[in-house]
Amino acid sequence: MVLPSAAVVVFSCLCLFASPCSGAIETPATVEYQIDLHEARTQTAMVGMTVRGWTGLALDVHLPVWRPGRYEILDLAGGVSGFAATDSTGRPLAFEKTAKSSWRINTLGVKDLTISYRLYANSLSNRTRHIDESHAFLSPSAVFMYCHELRHEPARVVLKLPAGWKVATGLSPDPARPDVLLAPDYDTLVDSPIECGLLDIRTFEVAGVPHEIAIWGAASAVPEKVAVDFAAIARVQHELFGSFPYSRYVFLTHVAPGASGGTEHLNSTIIQTRPTTFDTPKDYRGFLALASHELFHTWNVKRFRPRGLMPYDYQRENYTDLLWVAEGTTSYYDELLCVRAGVWSVANYLESLAKLSEAQLSRPGAAVQPLTDSSFDAWIKFNRPTPDSVNTTVSFYDKGAMVNLLLDVEIRSRTGNTKSLDDVMRELYRRFPLSGPGYTSADLLVILRDLAGSEFNEFFADYVSGTTPMPIADALLKLGLEMKRPGIKDEEKSDPDSGGSDEAYSGIEVRGGDGAAAGSPGDAVVSAVRSDGPAFAAGLIAEDQIVAINGKRVRGSDFAPRIRKLKPGEEVTLTYFRRDELRTITLTLAGKPRGELKITKVKSPTPDQRAMFESWCGQKWE
Ligand SMILES: [Zn+2]
Repeated sequence: MVLPSAAVVVFSCLCLFASPCSGAIETPATVEYQIDLHEARTQTAMVGMTVRGWTGLALDVHLPVWRPGRYEILDLAGGVSGFAATDSTGRPLAFEKTAKSSWRINTLGVKDLTISYRLYANSLSNRTRHIDESHAFLSPSAVFMYCHELRHEPARVVLKLPAGWKVATGLSPDPARPDVLLAPDYDTLVDSPIECGLLDIRTFEVAGVPHEIAIWGAASAVPEKVAVDFAAIARVQHELFGSFPYSRYVFLTHVAPGASGGTEHLNSTIIQTRPTTFDTPKDYRGFLALASHELFHTWNVKRFRPRGLMPYDYQRENYTDLLWVAEGTTSYYDELLCVRAGVWSVANYLESLAKLSEAQLSRPGAAVQPLTDSSFDAWIKFNRPTPDSVNTTVSFYDKGAMVNLLLDVEIRSRTGNTKSLDDVMRELYRRFPLSGPGYTSADLLVILRDLAGSEFNEFFADYVSGTTPMPIADALLKLGLEMKRPGIKDEEKSDPDSGGSDEAYSGIEVRGGDGAAAGSPGDAVVSAVRSDGPAFAAGLIAEDQIVAINGKRVRGSDFAPRIRKLKPGEEVTLTYFRRDELRTITLTLAGKPRGELKITKVKSPTPDQRAMFESWCGQKWE
């Protein structure tokens, strides 16, 4: 705040007096942003926002408090410093800060003004803004302020870049000025991240539509076949929906140590991965599924959107109970469409599906939180997991994907495999264009009834708004697939010394456990205590440091194997530090099914099973 206090009072009164016409516009005002990246080595940009033709007495500008695709309030304005406002002659204008992400400029008749600020950008992992000597990744909601009254007016972005930098973005350049990007409105700008820097750009076409892959970072690690595989994925998605909702698409791609994840945007995505991804087939498959996920979003959530996400309110949470569709359906299709595209084998997919099923079926939180609540509370829970999350929550991504599998099979079953979830996607795309109001759960139920000729309210009550256990094995069987735990011999099941078909279970998860090298020296620090195991009731808590099992030293990497060697019903004594106090606790171990779930094809499929399988995954049974 730079105004003397007396001026603030006068200014506030004027604003009250002027409201609601503080943004009265005789002829549409225009907005132009300038971003100067010549100090990129200091991870900063100088941002300008010039408004011309303003007629109000005050101008309120805001930076969003979240960015599309990440349902979490972020401190985006925290990177802003040196805020200033001047008229067209450079004379300073008074302003005050009115909220954490809001500034009010006392324009008092000034029509043309420029706001400027310094922006610090070092957040690579949350895909908001990152600048260094080699590039700038700019997700506009984390970079450019907006004025509510001008949100629907066209905006220009003038890029001032170091020599040799390239630009990749879904925005179109000004035909007369390649350094200027054009956006029809602020919402489009926000959903069009800008990547500029030392980029490796590859291209391909599907159905005559150009696609770009713009790679920053370790581009040499990325094989040429990526473009071929991405094209195969884009082709099956185009087949599913019937058309692309864009005339050009850009995969902004960061290849850097520790990078992972992606975010969907209007006609582009930002996907991040590690250089080592391309060394192992499994990691590479994960990268393809990520690209598939983000591309699928171009329809699911960037075109048809839950009503709660329309229009965006950039200053608060945007609630919806439908993230299980926006994210869950996308997660269901991301790998499935890789199979249809032929870039994943059926066996790869069934392995992944078995892991996902195991995690969902064994999660205590599945009995507590319905998918609708998981969706609604995304803003306070999903990106803020606690050690108790496993006991009280489900993921609208993971459980959402499984419920979409159940829904797909249910539609196929009821319609003799003449309709599927693919038809639901097409109907959402057709009935709920971006210009419309967005869909609700009731709209989805209508589409399902129209397609299948019967009601889905009970299905929703069980698996979407309820916590009924998911009958995954039953659904898979209709696709000709069996889910079971192989490797338990019949004689073991009846042998009390082997623990039978169950193995010992404590409910304790430790850091440095699975995934750490055997014998690695990390301590067994409790990361979570699952409420379905005996340790929960006994009062073991997160951060307890377990040092011994039955009097013998234990490390993080040995903890789970040592527990598994014991038997269900056996007593075990754990010695642990809570803060600096040494304690012991004795538990009676519970049991859980031994071995991992596996999904395989049945030996002799019926014609119905075979037909449903083939239309589902797009591959021949054999
Ligand atoms: Zn997603």
